[in-house]
Amino acid sequence: MLNRRTMIRAALGVGCAGLLAPSPLFAALAGDDAADMAAFIAGLPKAEYHVHLEGTLEAEMKFALARRNGLQLPFADVAALKASYRYHDLPSFLAIYYDGMKVLLKEPDFYDLAYAYLAKAASQNVLYAEMFFDPQEHLKRGVAMADVIGGITRARTDAAAKLGIQSQLILCFVRDLSAESAMAALDAALPMKQYLVGVGLDSDEKGNPPSKFAAHFAKARAAGLKVTAHCDLNQENTLEHIRQAIVDIRVDRIDHGGNILQSPELMALAKAKNLYFTVCPTFSGTVQGEAPPVDVVRGMLDAGLNITINSDDPAYMASEYLNEVLVKAQHRSALTKAELVRMERNAFMAGWMDEGLRAACLAKLDAYAAAHGLLA
Ligand SMILES: [Zn+2]
Repeated sequence: MLNRRTMIRAALGVGCAGLLAPSPLFAALAGDDAADMAAFIAGLPKAEYHVHLEGTLEAEMKFALARRNGLQLPFADVAALKASYRYHDLPSFLAIYYDGMKVLLKEPDFYDLAYAYLAKAASQNVLYAEMFFDPQEHLKRGVAMADVIGGITRARTDAAAKLGIQSQLILCFVRDLSAESAMAALDAALPMKQYLVGVGLDSDEKGNPPSKFAAHFAKARAAGLKVTAHCDLNQENTLEHIRQAIVDIRVDRIDHGGNILQSPELMALAKAKNLYFTVCPTFSGTVQGEAPPVDVVRGMLDAGLNITINSDDPAYMASEYLNEVLVKAQHRSALTKAELVRMERNAFMAGWMDEGLRAACLAKLDAYAAAHGLLA
């Protein structure tokens, strides 16, 4: 059997014509390396912090929930529904995203949604997840907050018991709805705050800076919750929004935040505060306005920022969950195995989990790295 070194020597033995037109052996080697990297990523112990539960609502489940709730979807079948997922920017994505969640009406719907995500994550060796949800959108449709949080919490408990995956829940303020709506959602959730770990800020950023929700963040923090906020990529006033998040709101984490690469001052601040960034390369690949555009993952890693890789809204992004996202990010940003381990170490450090669980997760990561010859 040819070992890798012998195969490489054989490949290099081809003549100039072979170099101009890659031989099948070169292609086989590239495929072999890709398969090796995919297997490494699949086995890597992982955590995820930037996944919107409503963004994990797969088309198949949408049809199943619509049937259960007596709703008619305006699509003939799953394929037709998936074909409608065409967006070109954040607002056009959000229009599809919010329309899709109308089938979520009752406690078991939220259970099924959360359990399906956690089962998928567990199958990909995600040990721990903190999941976003957007309750204002459900309250608007007359769903009770207790049904939303209750269903998700029941799924978290079952997934921990049956699948071994630990998780927590982050309530997001929908920034393009009114500040009053967000406060009403927070007030409705606070009596159940033991089931939440933090609050966040998502949806359409244009004209909706973090400062719009300063009172909400302060109230949540006073109730013992952690604080994070989306600073989506290439948004209007993006650096001012990042500044507000770090300085005024004093976030514990930032979601996306790639434009920080355009501000040495803000980068220095983030490093001084040891902030972690939840980057989602599917939706936020390059910082625009720079020549040439800067790859977010490579740029932030090389700048020494603490980044983690996440899937965001996988059901709307070709059903690519964390493993698939990492495989693509590795290829796109030329990530080494050591860098992948470094980002998962960041991820376990970034979690709002108890220290016993953090130590157990880090021990699994260290053992995996050592088994692959990567020093901790
Ligand atoms: Zn997001």
